[in-house]
Amino acid sequence: NYRCRSAFKLLEMDEKHHILRPGLCVVDCGAAPGAWSQVAVQRVNAAGTKPDRPVGFVIGVDLLHCSPLEGAIFLANADITNSRTHMNIKDKLPTGKADVILSDMAPNACGIRDLDHHRLVNMCLSLLDLAQSILSPGGTLLCKLWDGGESSVLRNRLVQVFQDVKTVKPHASRKESAETYFLAKSYQKERDFTRG
Ligand code: SAM
Repeated sequence: NYRCRSAFKLLEMDEKHHILRPGLCVVDCGAAPGAWSQVAVQRVNAAGTKPDRPVGFVIGVDLLHCSPLEGAIFLANADITNSRTHMNIKDKLPTGKADVILSDMAPNACGIRDLDHHRLVNMCLSLLDLAQSILSPGGTLLCKLWDGGESSVLRNRLVQVFQDVKTVKPHASRKESAETYFLAKSYQKERDFTRG
């Protein structure tokens, strides 16, 4: 039983794109009420329910509170656009590093499409700062976006630091027509542009 139907979007994307596996360390941004964290706990074996597989780790981060979930820890009252939150996340990670950053974050939509888009792009851009401080080389970032004029700004930034960037749209979100996800794999930090 999942806390929210959004679980099915992550299950579908993971099925197709192999984002999660036992032993990985996951940061779930905009985690409340916790359905993606439930999926992540299962897929990375964070509760150790598969004794013969490596045990992963899941931390969920949100402005809101999440009810406890076995195998996950939650940071509440945490704004992902605040660098202090990034330090708090890093402190909680067993090795200070994560393999996967998930984000299903969304601002409270005000209904003005361009403004909502702009705010979500800015939230996603702060995930790149988070990546710089915690994401392991080779790591993955999956983030939700509402389409709009600045999508390419975000995509270009992702392409600079990830080798493989895709736009994915799970069937489960077909109805929310403006909603897509960027799946960025193989994190390689800033490339050295000075060498041309
Ligand atoms: N993936 C979640 C699940 O499956 O249960 C649903 C996430 S919900 C669509 C979006 C969440 O993003 C909300 O809980 C909201 O509080 C959170 N959020 C919005 N702005 C945020 C911010 N600046 N920092 C952290 N979380 C934020």
